[in-house]
Amino acid sequence: MQRIKVQRNQPPRKTPSSNNALRVALLSLVALLCACRTVPGTGRSQLNLASESALSEQASAAFAQMPRANDPAGLTRVKAIALRVIAAARAAPKGYGDPSLPPPAAWEIAIIKDDTPNAFAMPGGKIGFNSGMFRLTPTDEDIAVILGHEVAHVVCRHGNERVSQGIAAAVGAVAVDQSMRDQSAEKRKQAMAAYGAAATLGVILPFSRSHESEADQLGIVYMALAGYNPAQSVTFWQRFSKEPGARMPEFLSTHPSDQTRIQKLQQLLPMAQKIYAEQQAKAPTR
Ligand SMILES: [Zn+2]
Repeated sequence: MQRIKVQRNQPPRKTPSSNNALRVALLSLVALLCACRTVPGTGRSQLNLASESALSEQASAAFAQMPRANDPAGLTRVKAIALRVIAAARAAPKGYGDPSLPPPAAWEIAIIKDDTPNAFAMPGGKIGFNSGMFRLTPTDEDIAVILGHEVAHVVCRHGNERVSQGIAAAVGAVAVDQSMRDQSAEKRKQAMAAYGAAATLGVILPFSRSHESEADQLGIVYMALAGYNPAQSVTFWQRFSKEPGARMPEFLSTHPSDQTRIQKLQQLLPMAQKIYAEQQAKAPTR
């Protein structure tokens, strides 16, 4: 994701630009108030400052650059499961879904030539599934767990929220810098460093953990609606946690501990299994 460059070319102290901090703060407040959205399924309020179409364009350009694996059988398998999961995510009831997601046929799905067990979904309808992921996905249910989780990140617009948090942090940094204008360079530097650490630890990291939990919560619903037994989610994450170096790209250092994730999934399982049973009674797929 792009980093926002903050330009600090304000004139020296005691000029009318001392109002700049206030102006920036007010403008950012207006932007924040205008850009809140409720996350499907969880009802959490989130910040969406970035344009979804701009994010889709960036995602599309990055996706085109990724090396493809020559694995027609693997691609057919992932595609078939992805189409069902996407259809489920579009149609999911009770505010869990997003009918504005691109329709299944519009998604571009690729097997990425990379031995790391990994997968991702991008705004605008792209799914990448690394060739190294297949060794951890013996069943179609395992693939449905991963795709449900990844498509849920897109439904929840977590990418947009991350960019927005970066924008908000940058705006806050400008305000801190402005308010310290009369202090020595050393003090300003210390304040900015302290602000940076607080912004990262206080805002960005906890949100990333909540992103993972939300993606798990919605993902398990999508897989159940798509006709895949959600009980497999626990089995899959148990297997995944034993694989050294196996991490989704968005996890970095902020993913919930494997134990926490598995515990939460076990709590969600009865709800997801009810959805699965209803779905199977209507249209058995397995
Ligand atoms: Zn994730």
